[in-house]
Amino acid sequence: MSHKSIQIPSVSIIFSVISVLVSIAFAINMLFMYHQNKNLLASELDALHQKVEDSFQYSIEDLNERFGLLIAHYTQMPEITKAIEQKNRDKLQRLVEADYQTLKQQEPNLYVMHFFDTKNVTILRMHKPESYNDDLTDIRPIVDEVNRTKTQMSGFEPGKNGITYRITTPVFNPQHHHIGVLEFGVRPAYFSERLKQRNDVAVRTLVKTTSLKSLTYQTHFKQINDYSVVMSDPIFNQLSIDHQHSKQVIENDDGVYLVLSNIFLNSYDDRPILQFQIIKNISGSYAEYKRNNQMYITLSLATYAFFLLFLYVVFQRFQNNLHQAIELLRNSERHRRKVTDMSLKDELTQAFNRRYFNQVMDELYSGGELTNTPYSMVFFDIDHFKQVNDTHGHLIGDEVLIELTKEIKSHFRDGDQLFRWGGEEFFALLADTPLSQAISIAERFRVSVQNSHRWPENIHLTISLSVVQLQQNESPESMQHRLDELLYEAKASGRNQVKHESLKY
Ligand code: GH3
Ligand code: MG
Ligand code: MG
Repeated sequence: MSHKSIQIPSVSIIFSVISVLVSIAFAINMLFMYHQNKNLLASELDALHQKVEDSFQYSIEDLNERFGLLIAHYTQMPEITKAIEQKNRDKLQRLVEADYQTLKQQEPNLYVMHFFDTKNVTILRMHKPESYNDDLTDIRPIVDEVNRTKTQMSGFEPGKNGITYRITTPVFNPQHHHIGVLEFGVRPAYFSERLKQRNDVAVRTLVKTTSLKSLTYQTHFKQINDYSVVMSDPIFNQLSIDHQHSKQVIENDDGVYLVLSNIFLNSYDDRPILQFQIIKNISGSYAEYKRNNQMYITLSLATYAFFLLFLYVVFQRFQNNLHQAIELLRNSERHRRKVTDMSLKDELTQAFNRRYFNQVMDELYSGGELTNTPYSMVFFDIDHFKQVNDTHGHLIGDEVLIELTKEIKSHFRDGDQLFRWGGEEFFALLADTPLSQAISIAERFRVSVQNSHRWPENIHLTISLSVVQLQQNESPESMQHRLDELLYEAKASGRNQVKHESLKY
């Protein structure tokens, strides 16, 4: 009987595959994080750069708006326009003094408030009233430009008193005649201070060295390339900035710094003149970011490990249950076979029993098997077995029966079957065996029993045998009858011999 073995799915393989997949997902996650981490500082730098640009833009708009309003107001005041036209410096000073003081209070970096006539000659410097009547055509091109174009202009321009961001506006009298120029100017600190307030950064201000030549005073400035450092926060002396790169990140033992080194504010005619360098200390937020990252990695690792452990436990239980179920199945299968065996076999000798013999014979004679394949039957009976029992006892007799079964079976080929008919009488069904061959096999049985030493108590055992080939048109009973007759002959003619019907050639 062939039966398929139950396939157990390899839980360890499934578990390994899932583990590998989960590990790959985890690795991708980590890689992505690492990548993001690298991009973070670059995007922080970009964001800072944008903020700085916005801050400058906003500061300039703020200035334009503030001074624009004041100038529009002055244009509407005939007293002021008359004083300008008449170059009445004292009167002009008196009229605007209060405004100048208020503006300076509001914006301490406001420095320049300067009235010019239409020929670029100073009428009044509110920031330096004692100096006037000087023609600035050569050193203050923005003033000349505004006088010529009669439009407002703004930008950095060096002057006698330093680099100043100037908003230079043509002035008209109420009759709309052009009567001169009013200029306001703020120090570069205006920009750097607002930058610091808004963005919590350190700033260094540099001025193109060549633009400082018209200064009325001389100071020594630290030089960086073509620029002079005019203002600097102390942090700039602690970090070494690479001036080749406009954006950089400096990481040292003290912390992490974003550095923008080339922020230019140009002159009114767009020449680079002022440079700001900016440092933002992001150590605090960066450390927190790193802590969060580490926490995230740790949590991910823990989740990952927990997940695998959970999976492992679940699979383990699944496998155990499966094994138990399979074991249960196998046990019941074993039990079933045992029960079947018991119903088919003789308990003492383990040869098939009489019931099974009848069943096999019925199947063999009713199926078409005998037409294709020759089957022969050997019937045998122990000689004088009664004497064995009488001499040695029933138990020894039983042992002889057991050993006899083994001895006969030792000669069997595949397909041969042994049946105990009753007492010490057996049938041996030889498959695919014609009579002639069966006779020699029976003879082999006889000789081997006679010569064997396996019998207890040195009993000398012999058997008598009869052999027939099964005929397809007879009944099992007639086959048995033929065997009975032949065995009787064997017994009658002295036992320990094989009897068979004559062979037909
Ligand atoms: P022969 O066949 O040579 O004519 O003589 P015999 O002594 O073998 O003849 P008989 O058939 O009269 O005896 C069979 C004996 O086998 C009778 C019985 O005591 C014994 N026998 C039958 N079944 C068993 C068994 O299961 N165990 C034992 N020990 N003996 C059994
Ligand atoms: Mg006998
Ligand atoms: Mg007998």
